[in-house]
Formats: sequence, C-alpha cells, structure tokens
Amino acid sequence: MNRFKDAAAPIAYPAAQGLRLRSLPPEPALLSPRPALHALPAAGNAASPPAYLPQGDECLLFAQAHAAQLPLLLKGPTGCGKTRLVEHMAARLGRPLITVSGHDDLGAADLTGRHLIAGGDTRWVDGPLARAVREGAIFYLDEVVEARKDITVVLHPLADDRRQLPLERHGELLDAAPGFMLVLSYNPGYQHLLKGLKPSTRQRFVALTLGYPTPELEARIVQSESGCTAEVAAALVRLAQALRRLTEQDLEETASTRLLVMAARLTGQGLTLQRAAQVAVMEALSDDTQTLAALQEVLDAVLGE
Ligand code: ADP
Repeated sequence: MNRFKDAAAPIAYPAAQGLRLRSLPPEPALLSPRPALHALPAAGNAASPPAYLPQGDECLLFAQAHAAQLPLLLKGPTGCGKTRLVEHMAARLGRPLITVSGHDDLGAADLTGRHLIAGGDTRWVDGPLARAVREGAIFYLDEVVEARKDITVVLHPLADDRRQLPLERHGELLDAAPGFMLVLSYNPGYQHLLKGLKPSTRQRFVALTLGYPTPELEARIVQSESGCTAEVAAALVRLAQALRRLTEQDLEETASTRLLVMAARLTGQGLTLQRAAQVAVMEALSDDTQTLAALQEVLDAVLGE
C-alpha cells in the first residue's frame, strides 16, 4: 500500500502563484512526498484575506503543515487570534474555510451528515466535515474539547495518514480531497479532568500555542482592528496587562485582545475610554459585584478616574 497515495495528486494553490519554493535538503522520497513551503503565498495574492498580524512563525508553520497534509491543533486563551489566523491562512492558501464551534451537544453525526426525510423520500445530506473533505477545504473545529467524545471516531482516520472520513450511515468512505486540512483549537486554561484532549487524539496533530501578543504588537492590532488612535490602543493594552496580572489566578478568563478591540471601537463612537473599558472589558470578566469593584480600582489606577 502506498502510504502517501495522495502525494502524486497535484494540489492546486490558486493563491500560491508566484510562490518561491526553495529546495529542501535531500530526504528519502517516502518521507518527503512533496516539497515543503518555505515561502508563503504573499497576502496580496489572495482576495484580501482578513488581516492577521503574526506573533511569530505561525503563518509559515500553518502553510507548512498544510503542504505536508498534517492536521493542526491550535492552543491558546480565548480571543487571542486563533480564529483570525485560520481565516487569514485559508484565504492565503486559497482554500474554502468551514468552521464549526464545539458545544456539549455536538456529536459525530452533526459533522458527518444524516439522512433527511422529505416528501416521503430519504436523502443523505453531508454535514460540514463531509463537505470540507469532499471540497478540499480547511475544516476548523473551534473549542474541540467542548464537543461530545464520539467525534474522535470521525476525526482520527482523518488526522492520520489515511485521510479518510467514514460515513457509516451512508455506507461511504471518503478520501480527503487534496488541500483538505483539519484544524482544531482549544483553550488549555479551561481544561479540567474530564475535558482534556485524549493523548491518542493529541498525538495525531502538529500543535501550536498562541498567547496574547506582546504589548507593542497588541497595540498595533487594537489600532488597526478598530481605527482608534495610538494613545487609546496603548492605554487599553496597559489596562489589559494590569488585568492579566491581577486576574490570571482568580478568573476563568482575562482581558483578551478581542475585548480590547471592542472597547477601542466604542471609543470611536464617542464613548470615553473609561466607560468603553468598563462595558466592553470589565463587565465581560465577571458578574460578581466585589470582583467588579476590584477590577474598577485597577481601571482607575491605569486609565485615571
Ligand atoms: P480566538 O479564536 O483565539 O478566540 P479571534 O481570532 O476570534 O480569537 O480574535 C478575536 C479578535 O481579536 C479578532 O476578531 C481580531 O479583531 C483580534 N485579533 C486577535 N489577534 C489578532 C492578530 N494577530 N491580528 C489581527 N487581529 C487580531
């Protein structure tokens, strides 16, 4: 059996025209089914991908995992840019993107598909994962640990060399089209004993951890995402830094880049910085009046009353 039977099939990277491919150090042919991507398709080649300011080499790594037909696990706190990275890279790689958010009722059949009865007829309707596998899309399952455990049955054969999706109820075994990529994300901070990823799942994925960006980068992100001034962005980032120091032990969530962008957008509508931070950041972090009072003290100290 040819372990890399997809390797001979050409992968169309419409967005990758003009790509610089540098040659790799020689490797046994079996271990190197196709050249790795050393240069990314320039963002300008795709139809304006959603903006993403990288924290490190994550864009290149994403493209390399895609070219090597490896699935990717993105770890990181909520609101730190995981989804935006996937949206950005899907556009740069010229692949359709299908996103599903994990929740405690999400099971295998929601991903693979089901028979629907319409007008006395029964017909099979592909679920989002089956569609992505057929189309060679990037399939992004956000917050995977929230989903039901039976989804691993469909994810495992897709995540290893088989790259297959069994549609048992439909009696079909789908081979993933070239270009298909499985991307999962979760927030390790939320994990408790029952909700971790099983080692057998984790070991099938290339894993990448994103944290909150450095203060300089985060200020640039807040400014470019909201159109606020550099001063407003810098002040919000200072607030986030102080809150992260304070809340990391006490709260399940802390001030994310997403919340800062929301606060910055409100200042663009005429709200004062203090009020915008209160409604967009503080109120999102806790419902408890005592905790909110403590957070308010931090806000006053950082932004002034
Ligand atoms: P996550 O998926 O990690 O919960 P998102 O990707 O949805 O977070 O990010 C939330 C928001 O924060 C995005 O919509 C975007 O406005 C902003 N953001 C975070 N990181 C970046 C980044 N590196 N570049 C551009 N925008 C970012």
